Amino acid sequence: MFNIRLIVILTVFLAITALTACQPAQQNADVDDNDNAITADRILTNGTIITVDSSLPEAQSIAIKDGRILALGSAEEIDAFVGESTDVIDLDGKVAIPGFIEGHAHFLGLGQALMILDLVPTRSFDDIITMVEEAAKNASPGEWIVGRGWHQERWGSSNELLYDGLPHHRKLSAVSPDNPVMLIHASGHAVYANEMALALAGIIAESSDPDGGTIIRDETGDATGYLRQAASNPVRKLVREALDSLSESEQQQRFERQVELAGKESLKHGVTSFHDMGTNLANIDRLKKLADEGQLPVRLHVAIRQETNETLREKASEYRMIGYGDGFLTVRAMKRAIDGALGTHGAWLISPYADKTDTSGLPQTSLENLRETAQIAFDNGYQLNTHAIGDRGNREVMNLYESFMGKDPESDLRWRIEHAQTLDPSEVPRFAELGVIASMQGVHATSDGPWVPYRLGMVRAQQKAYVWRSLLDEGATICNGTDAPVESISALESYIASVTRRMADGTQFFPEQVMDRMEALYSYTLGCAKAVFDEDELGSLTVGKRADIAVLNGNLLTLPEDELTGLEVEMTLVGGEVRFAKTNLEMTN
Ligand SMILES: [Zn+2]
Repeated sequence: MFNIRLIVILTVFLAITALTACQPAQQNADVDDNDNAITADRILTNGTIITVDSSLPEAQSIAIKDGRILALGSAEEIDAFVGESTDVIDLDGKVAIPGFIEGHAHFLGLGQALMILDLVPTRSFDDIITMVEEAAKNASPGEWIVGRGWHQERWGSSNELLYDGLPHHRKLSAVSPDNPVMLIHASGHAVYANEMALALAGIIAESSDPDGGTIIRDETGDATGYLRQAASNPVRKLVREALDSLSESEQQQRFERQVELAGKESLKHGVTSFHDMGTNLANIDRLKKLADEGQLPVRLHVAIRQETNETLREKASEYRMIGYGDGFLTVRAMKRAIDGALGTHGAWLISPYADKTDTSGLPQTSLENLRETAQIAFDNGYQLNTHAIGDRGNREVMNLYESFMGKDPESDLRWRIEHAQTLDPSEVPRFAELGVIASMQGVHATSDGPWVPYRLGMVRAQQKAYVWRSLLDEGATICNGTDAPVESISALESYIASVTRRMADGTQFFPEQVMDRMEALYSYTLGCAKAVFDEDELGSLTVGKRADIAVLNGNLLTLPEDELTGLEVEMTLVGGEVRFAKTNLEMTN
């Protein structure tokens, strides 16, 4: 027989141990100044809340009011904030984390990529024909059909006659007789065009190959539609002209569609803030208007790009804005690039490429011009975000930064190096010493991994490529991201790449450089918040901060490695508002 008293004691004991097992709750007072009970607008309960805040690393429930975090604690503690109009979302054991902060990607570019045919998943030439046929049905005559992402090496064997790996355009042209078609290769360096596009671009059998480009031809000399490098320029130019000829209102519509699509794609992946690596002032005006109307889907931290130093000097102070439109738009960074990419031998290296020994790459801009931008950024309270991929490029940028940041040890400029993909060991400690942010994309390491050792040679690749473990050990702040649309905006994919460095074939790219799970989560949340001076508002689930939250179907800190790929984003909240929900998590009033 159970002793009723014993049950009560046991229950109390269990309740106490449960409470002490958790750390004390974090909350604002549960009554206001007039002793009225404070009620939450929304509560997420009965889950695992990973806060990325060391003062209370985990909780069961979180209460939200006026877009900010009101309290965190056990389910019972947070129950106290339930009022008549509180939305209570039962997480049912799911995991809530701070919303992912995308640290380097291209917001409008992502939207634009979503407006054209995504040919990445195609596995045969016929897949492409089917997609274009479908698109042609929905297009008005003369309208361009544009796609991107095909790669002939992903296609199985074919019975067709191939010219440099691709069939003649006949089949493509047959399904798109009234529309010009331009399909861009996954690398961006070639296009495949249909008959109408070739005709409009004036590419005929008699056309000669331009400098730096090749028109692929059949046995009769006729263009097959495959245009390599510079040979594709006349077609690309026509597409640009078609876009430029849109009316003001058509352009505005297109812009809003880009924002909407990029926002949806971000939210679907749990991304609540987005460091946009650059757009011009005209686009910033448009974004500002959307911020005024409350139409920005995620928080944007936009760097100014594609403007001359003269314009920057003139306009920087006018455009500087922080947390504009209820924290949805911040402009306080300038984006520049010192070099190109490793893939195209464009990254500026200290010593020559292993697979192209006649070059070490080149700077893309004069150091003097970059220094001028740095001065403008310094004078106007802007961050400078410089793309640097080669070890020489990184060294030059670091030297430049040091000449500004090193002047005053107290200076907190938080200038950033974007990508920082190849670092000489002597550069690594300088990030922490100078407070330079390493803006690195986890997923780049695993997608570039298969060919990086060819470019750099094995020893240099091991010593210098994507060395985020070395950076963290030296105390650097890493801000993670994807560089979308170059990669998918999937934060989870980049997170997994950061903690496994496992490539598509299952092997690891120098696994000694992995981040641990918490470091990777930090790099995607608080690390990126710090990288834009927003650590008091974003990046952790802390009372008073904005309620930007992603809900996952599993625990990214504890799942075994082989189960990480099963992680999915179930729900995304921005400012406490549910902006993406995959499944119907139980909602009660
Ligand atoms: Zn980029």
